[in-house]
This record gives sequence, C-alpha cells and structure tokens, in this order.
Amino acid sequence: MVPVYVFDPRLLAGHPLGFAKAGAVRRQFLAEAVRDLRQQLRQVGSDLVVRVGLPEEVLPALAQELGAAAVYASAEVTQEEQAVETALEERLEADGRSLHLFWQATLHHLDDLPMPVRNLPDVFTQFKNKVEKFGKVRPQFAAPTNLTFAETLDRGTVPAVPEAADYQPAFRGGETEALGRLHDYFWTKDLLRTYKETRNGMLGLDYSSRFSGWLALGCLSPRFVLAEIQRYETERTQNESTYWLGFELLWRDYFRFVAVKFGNRIFRSHGLKEEPLRRAPAVTKSAQHSFEQWRLGETGVPLIDANMKELLATGYMSNRGRQNVASFLVKDLLLDWRWGAAWFESQLIDYDPCSNWGNWLYVAGVGNDPRENRYFDILRQATYYDAAGAYVKHWLPQLTGVPAEQVHRVGLLTNDEQRSFGVRLGVDYPNPLVDVRKWGQADGGR
Ligand SMILES: Cc1cc2nc3c(=O)[nH]c(=O)nc-3n(C[C@H](O)[C@H](O)[C@H](O)COP(=O)(O)OP(=O)(O)OC[C@H]3O[C@@H](n4cnc5c(N)ncnc54)[C@H](O)[C@@H]3O)c2cc1C
Repeated sequence: MVPVYVFDPRLLAGHPLGFAKAGAVRRQFLAEAVRDLRQQLRQVGSDLVVRVGLPEEVLPALAQELGAAAVYASAEVTQEEQAVETALEERLEADGRSLHLFWQATLHHLDDLPMPVRNLPDVFTQFKNKVEKFGKVRPQFAAPTNLTFAETLDRGTVPAVPEAADYQPAFRGGETEALGRLHDYFWTKDLLRTYKETRNGMLGLDYSSRFSGWLALGCLSPRFVLAEIQRYETERTQNESTYWLGFELLWRDYFRFVAVKFGNRIFRSHGLKEEPLRRAPAVTKSAQHSFEQWRLGETGVPLIDANMKELLATGYMSNRGRQNVASFLVKDLLLDWRWGAAWFESQLIDYDPCSNWGNWLYVAGVGNDPRENRYFDILRQATYYDAAGAYVKHWLPQLTGVPAEQVHRVGLLTNDEQRSFGVRLGVDYPNPLVDVRKWGQADGGR
C-alpha cells in the first residue's frame, strides 16, 4: 500500500470575480494537514507520496510505475469532485486497474440511513428525529500501527504557500493539532459542559469547538468526536451542551445528504426551489463594487466588516458571523448569494462544498425549509451578541475610541463625535453602504 496525496492545481484557478478558488490561507491549512499526515505515516514505518498535478493523470501514472492493481479513495458527492473521480476511473480501467471509492466524512453512513436518500426529509428536524431514533453510527477502525514503504520511491515535497506567510492562524492543519484541540476543549478546559450557552459567541477561541477545519479535511472523524462526547457524558456530565455538539454534527451530515439528493441544484440561483422566485441579481458595476466592499470588510457596518476581516486574516468565522454576513449580502446588498458562497469557498479553512453551499442556500431562502428563511437585523444582532463592542474593536482597531453604545452605529456619528472619538468616516473607516437607520426597529430575530 502506498499512501498518496495529490495537490490539484485547479485549486489555484481564478474565479470570474477575481480571486483564487482556494485562497492562500485555505491552501496553507491544507498543506499543514498533509505534512502532519506524512509525519503520522512515517511514525508507523510508511510515508506519504506527495505530487502536484491533476489526480486523474498523476495517479494512473503512479499506479503504472508501481504495478498497483487498484486505487482506493474516499467518495465525494459534488460535481467537480465527482468529475475527477470519473476521469480517474476511466484512465485506470483503460490500463486494467480499478478504482474503489469509500463513503467517508459523515457520522452516519449513507447506507445506514433510515430512509433512501431520495426520500431525505426536506426539513432538518424530521431528518434528525428519524436518525436519532433509527440511525446507527458505525464503530471506529483502529489506526494501523505497522506499515512498510518502498524505499526507492520519490516521496515528493509538500508545496509551500508563500502568499500565506503572514496569516494569523488560530490553529494549524493536521490530525495532531485536531486531537490536541479536542483534548483541550473537552478534557482540560472542560468547555463542552457549557457549549450550548457559548456557541453563539464571536470573540476568542473557546466559544465553540473549532473542529470544522479538521472535519472538512478528514483530519478528525465525526465518529471519533461522537465517541468522545459519549465518554465525556459517562465520565463528566451529560447535559444539553453535550447533546448539542452531536446535534451540530447532524447538520453537517444533513447537508451532505442534501447534496446527494439534489445534485447540482445546490449551486443554482434558485437552489432547491422548483421555480425561480425572481431573476438572479444582475452583474452590474455597482453590484461588483458592493461585493468588493463586502469581501474586503469595508461596508461601513462594523459587525459585517469585523467578521470579514477575521475571515481574511484567519480563514475562519463564527457561525453567528457567517449568518450575519450572508444575510447582509443577500438581503441588504441584494447581491447574488452565489458570489458570497464563492468567496467563502476561497477563504474558509473549513470549506466543505455541502456545508458551505447548503448553509448559503438556507440563508438565501432557496433551501427547502421555509422556516430557515429569515432576515437578520444587523444592528439588533450586533447589540445582542457584541454588546460591549469588544469583537468589532478587536478586528477594527480604528473604532477603539468609540463608546460601546455607539460603535455599532458608527455611520451615524456627527462630525463632533467623530473628532472626539478619534475616527473620521470616509477616511479611517468607510461610510456605510446601506442606510443603517432601517435597523433596530422591528424584531430582527436571534
Ligand atoms: C453561510 C454559511 C456558510 C458555512 N460554510 C461552512 C463550511 O464551508 N464548512 C463548514 O464546516 N461549516 C460551514 N458553516 C457552518 C458553521 O458556521 C461552521 O461549521 C462552524 O461555525 C464551525 O465552527 P466550530 O467547528 O467551532 O463549530 P461548532 O459550533 O463547535 O460545531 C461543531 C461542528 O458541527 C458542524 N456544524 C456546526 N454548525 C453547522 C452548520 N450550520 N452546518 C454544517 N455543519 C455544522 C461543524 O462540522 C462543526 O465543526 C457555514 C455556515 C453558514 C451560515
């Protein structure tokens, strides 16, 4: 057995809106994960062969060089990934070799769902209830402890990501870091106990688990996370928080099964809806300009900008932040939700096609659950979840001198206030892109 990882140059391809499909921070996290995997394999007597190129070309060539009978990989569910699988299989078969794909990634195996995936419920809660009652989670495999490696084989090197040199990662990619974080979060800091109360936070590292990046790349198994939750429930405590982390893993499963059921519909403007509700927003100069300001964190709305700056610097954003910036893009800037999803795809270290496009569908109101379609009043959200303004001031230090009760409405400061708080609108911080006086009135929802 020869473990191989292929870095696909298609990750560097440009999006028509002017950025790489996978930005530097995301590629850095991936490179760290692959280096760590190599280290793990070396510790058990094997190694990881690393190549750069198209997997459907590199793998058949390597299989030929080695005289391998078959290639084994995990099965993907979305179009671009499946196109690679198909091309790979065709080339391998032309050489008399086979491709074996394995269902991985989710807590519940596709084959163990209590319904055929074509009958997946359109409402998450119905899915959750069925799976909790009738689903099963397969046991984990033990990791191999003793492998061998063909010494003559060129191991290759993990490509460096020079553009990401100055990023500010909270965590590094790779299983070692993932297991360390889980141990810290559950056992050392005992934070699982209060997860349900803290999970809507935005500032710091400990309000939520931060497992997402490792789960997305396969450095951490959801089945292992669940087993650790259960151990915690036996050894420490069982409460709403311990339940809730497992519940969130079901959302993750659900979005993967939604992608299987609906295929490419998750990528189209009207999503899972049968008919377009309205025409997709037009690609105008002004729309592109608003999108640039959103993407770079320069909308003049502090909660949005702070979150977008955090994403740029770290490749991560809290769930609360993601919901707000997505709602703002779709419902306040009236832009095409797919632009937002494409930017998240480029930036997120936890980018996963199903979770990303699936969550965007729901925020954009084109998923299949009508109850998920709601508007976020950004000011109400900001004053509720960042009452003291500590989060926005952390990412927008130019607002440090603005008092907490005004920081989320900074666009409304008078000239005198700007002078006394040490911030000039349009100079140190942008004027707001939208009329912020519309917020704070109606129930903006939490
Ligand atoms: C517009 C938008 C885009 C998103 N894109 C992604 C994405 O590309 N990849 C991704 O992993 N998550 C995505 N999410 C979901 C969620 O925001 C992140 O999973 C979560 O913030 C990660 O932080 P955490 O690991 O600390 O989460 P925790 O709160 O600790 O949750 C534990 C785990 O549960 C899963 N989970 C939690 N919430 C969700 C959810 N709503 N959907 C799917 N899985 C969830 C994640 O795997 C997460 O690691 C998106 C959410 C929104 C609103």
